[in-house]
Amino acid sequence: MSERVVVALGGNAILQRGQRGTAQEQMANVQHTVEQIVRMIEADYDVVLTHGNGPQVGATLIRHELGSVQIPAMSMDFCGAESQGFIGYMFVQSLSNSLREKGLEKHQPVCLVTRVEVDPHDQAFINPTKPVGPFYTQERALQRMSEKGETWIEDAGRGWRRVVPSPDPARIVESEVIRHLVNDGFVVIASGGGGIPVVVDHNGEYKGVEAVIDKDLAGERLAQEVEADIFMILTDVPQVAINYNTPRQKWLGVMSLREMEALEKEGHFKAGSMGPKVKACLRFVRNGGKRAVIASLEEAIEALQMKKGTQITH
Ligand code: ADP
Ligand code: MG
Repeated sequence: MSERVVVALGGNAILQRGQRGTAQEQMANVQHTVEQIVRMIEADYDVVLTHGNGPQVGATLIRHELGSVQIPAMSMDFCGAESQGFIGYMFVQSLSNSLREKGLEKHQPVCLVTRVEVDPHDQAFINPTKPVGPFYTQERALQRMSEKGETWIEDAGRGWRRVVPSPDPARIVESEVIRHLVNDGFVVIASGGGGIPVVVDHNGEYKGVEAVIDKDLAGERLAQEVEADIFMILTDVPQVAINYNTPRQKWLGVMSLREMEALEKEGHFKAGSMGPKVKACLRFVRNGGKRAVIASLEEAIEALQMKKGTQITH
C-alpha cells in the first residue's frame, strides 16, 4: 500500500518575494512546485495538495474594491472562492501536463472549491487579528469602519489595514467527496487558502463568513479527514529552528511529540508564521497521524524520505 501524504504549500510555491504577481510569474512558480509533487507521485505516494492564497486573495480584494465603481464588490468568502478557483486551475493545468510527460497520466488532478466549517462562537470572531487586502489612509479606514462595521488597524506605519477573524477550522465540508476522489487515485487539490469559512446557522444552513482560516491548520484537518499517513508543510526555510534569527539559533531534525510540545510552550514559534505550522503538526501527530514534516519546498522529496526537514513523530 502506498503511503498517503497531504502537502500544504506555502506562499513561495506560487509567488516569490519581490515578484509582481503576473499570471506568467505565478504559473512558472507553480510549474516549479509541481516538479516536486510529480517526484512524490513517481515515488508512489498518494498526494493530496492544499495551498495558501495570501497575496492572491489580497489582489482579488483590491480588484473588487477598485472595480466597485462599475461592478459591485463581493465579500471575502466569494473572493476566497475566486482565488481557490484560479490557483487550482494553475495546479491542475501544470500537473496534467507534467504527469502526461512522465507517462503518469492515470493520476488525474482535480481541484475542489472547498468550504471549511468554523464555530460561530469561536473567540476569533470577538477579536479579529488577520490583516487582509490593501493599505488605506486613516480617513478611508475610519469611513469603512463606520459604514460597514469592519475592523481596521494601523499597521506599523505602513497605513491602515482591515483585520478579520481567523477562527479554528472545525471540519472540511467536502471531506467525503475528497476521500472518494483520493481513494480512486485522483490527485486532489482542496481547501486552498485554508478553505472558505462557513458556519451552520440556526436553520441548519451553511453561511459564508468574513474570515480567514489558517491554511496549515486547515491542512491538518484535511490530513485527518483523508486519513493521511504523513502531513507535510512546505515553506521557505529548510527546518524549524529554536531561537530563530538569533545567534543561538538551532535547527531541529527528528523530534518527538513531547519534545516539540515543550519547545512550543517555551514560545519559540512565532504566531502568524511558524506558530500555526508547529501547532498543526502537533495536532496531526496527537490525533494519531504517523508523522508530520516541515521542510523547504526545494527539499520536499528528501524530507518525505526523512533525510531533510523537521520530522515530528510519536
Ligand atoms: P508560508 O507561506 O509558507 O506559510 P510563513 O511566512 O507563514 O510562510 O512562514 C514561514 C516563515 O516562518 C519563514 O520564512 C521564517 O522566516 C519564519 N519563522 C518564524 N519562526 C521560525 C522558526 N522558529 N523557525 C523557522 N522559521 C521561522
Ligand atoms: Mg503562513
